[in-house]
Amino acid sequence: MAIADVTKTNLLGLPMEKLEDFFQEIGEQRFRAQQVSKWIHHHGVANFDEMTNVSKALREKLAEVAEIRPPEVVHEDISEDGTRKWVIRVDGGSSVEAVLIPEGKRTTLCVSSQVGCALDCSFCSTGKQGFNRNLTAAEIIGQVWIASKALVEAKDKNDKAAHHKAISNVVMMGMGEPLLNFDNVVDAMYIMMADFGYGISKRRVTLSTAGVVPKIDQLRSVTDVALAISLHAPTDELRNTLVPINKKYPISELIAACQRYLVGLGERRKITVEYTLIDGVNDQPEQAQQVARLLRDLPCKINLIPFNPFPLSDYRRSPRKAVLAFQSVLINAGYTATIRSTRGDDIDAACGQLVGQVEDRTRRSDRYIAAVTL
Ligand code: SAH
Repeated sequence: MAIADVTKTNLLGLPMEKLEDFFQEIGEQRFRAQQVSKWIHHHGVANFDEMTNVSKALREKLAEVAEIRPPEVVHEDISEDGTRKWVIRVDGGSSVEAVLIPEGKRTTLCVSSQVGCALDCSFCSTGKQGFNRNLTAAEIIGQVWIASKALVEAKDKNDKAAHHKAISNVVMMGMGEPLLNFDNVVDAMYIMMADFGYGISKRRVTLSTAGVVPKIDQLRSVTDVALAISLHAPTDELRNTLVPINKKYPISELIAACQRYLVGLGERRKITVEYTLIDGVNDQPEQAQQVARLLRDLPCKINLIPFNPFPLSDYRRSPRKAVLAFQSVLINAGYTATIRSTRGDDIDAACGQLVGQVEDRTRRSDRYIAAVTL
């Protein structure tokens, strides 16, 4: 494993402005940042020696004060449906997971933002792992770096079975609550969207939140990436049991925050509302009617996610019939309602199945949530 050198700056996690500042601080021209950023993110280079358009003197200087240190891949799985999952070790011994999902023209990467999660949604296996720490910006963008490099390598090998396209979409839907790791997630998203980074359009970078209301407003003040919210229930009473942060930020406040998010973004922008269907819990046709009424004033599309089971969970996936019935109520009410296909479940890579390995699980507590959401 590459060992962290605390005296060196890891350039991997610096968005353009911070990278320019870094070059200025070491007495170099700011434009060097663009050259180096291209090497790191376009070419997947982790070694200054390979940066052939950078002078030898500068390369040597950089090697002394900086590093490009992605997290380490400890395991990789490829599903029968082409989904790939990487288990990635981060400093401190814990690991997180990133999932690449090829689907037609799109290649979507699902990225983790925290080691574990503090929110403890009752139907999510990540929550059961407890919370350890926030990922750094380098560890978040490192997942994109690793997946891009894997795609390039597959292409170089002319591996016909492999997927050759570049990453077209990123969803912050892996382990963790991205809005509770705000600064690092935003820095990483800036790199995803930058021309000198991964050049992914802001409509194709989606942040999914369980509903940390004040942070939704804060997000809108710095960027307008696509926003997804995890609704999962039409009433506060039920949502309190499924998504406990609802006790702090109830449904009406969440919807109001989504409405504010869309202000000034143009008619066509919509919020994605995620709704995981759990047998006998939130999948009844009356509940679909309630959802339809609830979302009346929010421009949105609804993504239904059949519950993905995991060990030690008593919940069951809604039967296909119930999923389709729920969907048709919403469609009849005028919504776009899609059913998320279950991808990669044979390698435990489906929504809510990402667990990684959390070394210190002691930090999950209401007090922690209160502290970080204030
Ligand atoms: N913390 C973020 C990202 C979570 S993962 C959030 O809450 O939005 C992305 C989606 O998968 C969320 O909507 C989440 O609630 C859902 N999910 C979690 N566990 C699941 C499971 N076991 N089956 C289906 N969906 C699940």
